[in-house]
Amino acid sequence: MNDSMRRAVAILLVILGGAALWWAGSGAPASASANDAMVATIAAARERAAANDPRLKAASRFEEGGWIYVHLEGDPGAMGFQHGYLLAPEIEDGFAAVSAGMMHSTKRDWEFFRKAAHEMLWPKIDVEYQQELQGIIEGLRARTGSKLDVDDLVAFNGFEELPDYYVPWLNKQQKSANAPNLKSPGNCSAFVATGSWTKDGQIVMAHNNWTSYRNGERWRIVFDIAPKNGYRILMDGFPGVIASDDDFGINSDGLMITETTITQFEGWDPNGKAEFVRARKALQYAGSIDEYAKIMLDGNNGGYANDWLLGDRKTGEIAQLELGLRAHKLWRTKDGVLAGSNWARDPKVIKEDAPEFDANNKESSPNARRARWDELLKENKGKIDVALAEKMLGDHADTAQKKEEANEHTLCGHVDASARGVKEWDWQPYYPGGAVQGKATDATMAKEMRIMARMGHPCGGDFLAKPFLAAHPEYAWEEPYLRDMKAGPWTEFRSGQGPKE
Ligand SMILES: [Zn+2]
Repeated sequence: MNDSMRRAVAILLVILGGAALWWAGSGAPASASANDAMVATIAAARERAAANDPRLKAASRFEEGGWIYVHLEGDPGAMGFQHGYLLAPEIEDGFAAVSAGMMHSTKRDWEFFRKAAHEMLWPKIDVEYQQELQGIIEGLRARTGSKLDVDDLVAFNGFEELPDYYVPWLNKQQKSANAPNLKSPGNCSAFVATGSWTKDGQIVMAHNNWTSYRNGERWRIVFDIAPKNGYRILMDGFPGVIASDDDFGINSDGLMITETTITQFEGWDPNGKAEFVRARKALQYAGSIDEYAKIMLDGNNGGYANDWLLGDRKTGEIAQLELGLRAHKLWRTKDGVLAGSNWARDPKVIKEDAPEFDANNKESSPNARRARWDELLKENKGKIDVALAEKMLGDHADTAQKKEEANEHTLCGHVDASARGVKEWDWQPYYPGGAVQGKATDATMAKEMRIMARMGHPCGGDFLAKPFLAAHPEYAWEEPYLRDMKAGPWTEFRSGQGPKE
């Protein structure tokens, strides 16, 4: 008998034991409470048996500053099992919120996304990530008896690329009448600086994640990943998703990565490889800017098209990979700053991949923030460090209205405060979205595998769901999922960290 069979038999015996007790205690027709008791007994037995699973030995979890830190270690299947087990409640909760959003915006049912995951994405996922995804489902089921399967999980992992890249492309192919007006998302404000721009001449990198508060308040995992193959990774992320996905991460070979998405991007290659797979692979296996670009370009499907901001702490070089589908461009420098706030800059990428983007509209969120990055970074040339970067991520200067006011124009986004919304992303007036958390690091910290992270608005402001929903009943459909998003403190995390350190 192998280990997994032995485990299965052990669980079965415990379940039969529970059932026998239940039968013994219920002479009369089964009452609801006896039924509940049996369900609870079985659940407890399952959780006890799973907690002793040897695959969990190397893994750990603790919470600090509003974040959940998980350490995953080992071969892909084991890391997946640890991920699924340790984050089971958060995965169930995150899946419910994300899948509701995907169906609401696209007017497609969940079966549609499962089919896309199964037929289009799954066959092109590298075997090690297939094993990791399967492991997540095993860990999840071991802990909660979850009904989710691998197709659900793959569709969920594709939550940035399927609804806003694949579906609009498909609607166009099918010439769907009454298709919803879907727009690629605008996620994030970020920069990477080096040389004469920073205080100590080394790389400084910072990023805040812009998304719906519904999803963003759940984007609170710090993943410390020690894979059997590839480099050690420290990144922020979403429960159940194998890539950082917003993205902010460092690896033990010296690569530092982040990104902001390309506004009004259009295009999808159904024969390409999922973006979440390429992004995770690049962070795990790239030791240089060139290797990073190569992995991202291999099987580029156009999904979640980003301006990648990269740093290599071994050389002090930074780079920007503007990754369109039909066009792309790489800029690199050892003395400069590269910023992002959801605008493409290469004329060819704009023309071929984001043709509707208006680079001259100073009122749009991407361009207003672009102007603010220009101002702020120039003002602080030679002074940029992690502490200053944290402040910049919480900046509320509105260059379009020339005043201080937290809204969709500011680096720290508060679109729920704006009557304008962001039409380029189809965010309606007062859309409950904006900057949901921030991260920063520098070359010295990256060498020691350390990052700073703040959950909630990087300025420290709180979002409160109840008064918002009362004032904006048009977002009532989000009520089951939308919660308070209270800001935590800037908190340091490092690889190999344990609780209370
Ligand atoms: Zn703010």
